[in-house]
Formats: sequence, structure tokens, C-alpha cells
Amino acid sequence: MVDFEIGVSDVEAAWDRIAPHVRRLDVSRSAALSQRLGGEIWLAHEYRQRTGSFKLRGALNAVLQRAATVRGVTTVSTGNHGKALAWSARHAGIRCTVCMASLVPELKREGIRALGAEVRVVGSNQDEAEVEAQRLVAEEGYEMISAFDDRRVICGQGTLAIELLESPVEFETLVVPLSGGGLLSGIALVAKARWPDLRIVGVSMARGAAMHAALEAGRIVAVDEVETLADSLAGGLGDDNRYTFPLVRSLVDEVVLLEEAEIAEAMRVAWQTEGAVLEGGGAVGLGALLAGKTRSKGPTAIVLSGGNIDPARHRAIVEGPVSV
Ligand SMILES: *Cc1c(COP(=O)(O)O)cnc(C)c1O
Repeated sequence: MVDFEIGVSDVEAAWDRIAPHVRRLDVSRSAALSQRLGGEIWLAHEYRQRTGSFKLRGALNAVLQRAATVRGVTTVSTGNHGKALAWSARHAGIRCTVCMASLVPELKREGIRALGAEVRVVGSNQDEAEVEAQRLVAEEGYEMISAFDDRRVICGQGTLAIELLESPVEFETLVVPLSGGGLLSGIALVAKARWPDLRIVGVSMARGAAMHAALEAGRIVAVDEVETLADSLAGGLGDDNRYTFPLVRSLVDEVVLLEEAEIAEAMRVAWQTEGAVLEGGGAVGLGALLAGKTRSKGPTAIVLSGGNIDPARHRAIVEGPVSV
């Protein structure tokens, strides 16, 4: 076991802080999926969250605690964390500068700018963007907020579980998308404290699953970043990971990896049966059950974590043959 350094009361404090500003989680039973999968399937519709993903919970919890003392916040994430941090900073009235490499598509830069953040394009890769973010911290009074390896972010993501546990069901299985592990750690800290026999299944894509590789090796190892439909799950754990690797290692019961066709199928089924527009990373939990890679034992909740995807791309995936 690890010394968690994070308790349920920390997550409850995060919930008190952010609940007035975030959209409340909608949890509902899916008749169609319960029948199709032969179990009690409940869906946590977090892709309906502001900014399109749960990342808002963690980013906002961090920003609200620091808004009075820092000049601004920064990160190198261009995806859902970048959006969430930009929204949170604007909400709190502080600056946000997102550093990114020149290869990041213009559409993503625009999305961040539209939320009031400054986009700083530096160098040709993530490492160079990271150097600029570090400079903002060292010289300009900014604070760097990690997308997952930060206690405040983990506690923020855990607030999703507080809302999940308010539903009238005693879940026995929770299926959660897994990348850096902030979401799974936060949820598991709360849910396992309430229901000690709960089984938590983490789901990543087979292409470049950093946490899975680390769990197998017993230490953090480098993984190749390859293109995947679950782009919001891509990326490494960081050489100096402090929290999420030990937390996930002690809290997760099973980790499942999905092929690209299985991710596409999950997006398709979510759209056809629930009318839910999910990005690949948001759909992997459903995909794990559809592909038969994990079982729904007892009442099962699937976290649908995000819906940020270009509409034309979504249409092509749910209507067409599998392509990446
Ligand atoms: C970031 C993200 C995840 C994974 O969260 P971690 O805390 O990095 O494990 C899952 N789904 C979506 C949509 C995300 O943006």
C-alpha cells in the first residue's frame, strides 16, 4: 500500500469548492445496453460537463485554491486539460498561458484562445514547449498545473465519484478511462472507501498505454506515442510521477487495452443507442464491455469521460468503416 497523502475528506473539500461552478453528473441506467450486455449497465454522462470533459473538475479545484496568490497558470496540454485550465482561469480572473509546439493544429489553438487563454507557440516538440512553461514559472510568477499528477487535480477528478455515489445503486463494478491516472485515482479513493468490494477497471488504448506499461514493468517506462482514436489518453506519466502511479497501482483491480476498431465500435454504439457524441478516449469504458474484455459483475457504472471531437470526424467514424 502507498501512503496516499490524499483522503476522502480532501475530495469532499474539493467538491464544496467546485460544485457551484460545474455541471452536476447525470447518472442513468441504459435499458438498451443492459439488455445488450446482459447486466445492469449505468452510464455516467460526464461528456456533458462544461468544456466537454471531466478535466474541468481537477483544473478548477487547483485554480480556485491558487487564484489569490499566483499571477497566472500554465500547462503544455493542448487537449481537454488545456481547455479546462483556460476556462478555470477565466472563471477565477487570472491569466492562463498554454504552451504548445508548432505542430499543434490551428483548430486546437483557436479553441484555447476562444476561452480567453494566451497560446504560446514555441519550438517543434512538446519538450521545447515545456521549457517555456518552466520559464513562465521561474520568471513570471506563473504556476504549472499538471493534467493528472497533482493532488488538487486528483481530488477534483474524485468529485465525480461523490456525485456518482449519490445515485440509488450500489455499484459493484466501475469502468473508467485511464491515461495519466488522475481520474481513476480520484474516483477510486472515494468509491473504494464507501464500497470496499468494488471492482475498478481501467481502460486504455492498446497503442501507447503508458500506465499499463508502468504497471507491467513495476516502474515508469517510456512508451511510443502513436496516433490513436483515443488521443485524449495518449502521453507519458512523466519521469517524476509522484502520485498517480502509486495510487493507480494500489487501487485498480484490472487494466484492459482496446484496439482501434473496438474504440470506434464503442463510439458508434454510444451514438446509436444513447445519442451520445463521444471522443475516442471518452468511449473506451463502454468499449471494454462491448468487446468482452471485462465483465459487468453486479450493477456496473461506465464513466463516459469526454466528448471533444470534430463533428465531421465523429460522423465519419460512427457512419463509416473503421479508419484512423
Ligand atoms: C484526460 C482524459 C482521460 C484520462 O484521464 P487521466 O486522469 O489522464 O487518466 C480520459 N478521458 C478523457 C476524455 C480525457 O480527456
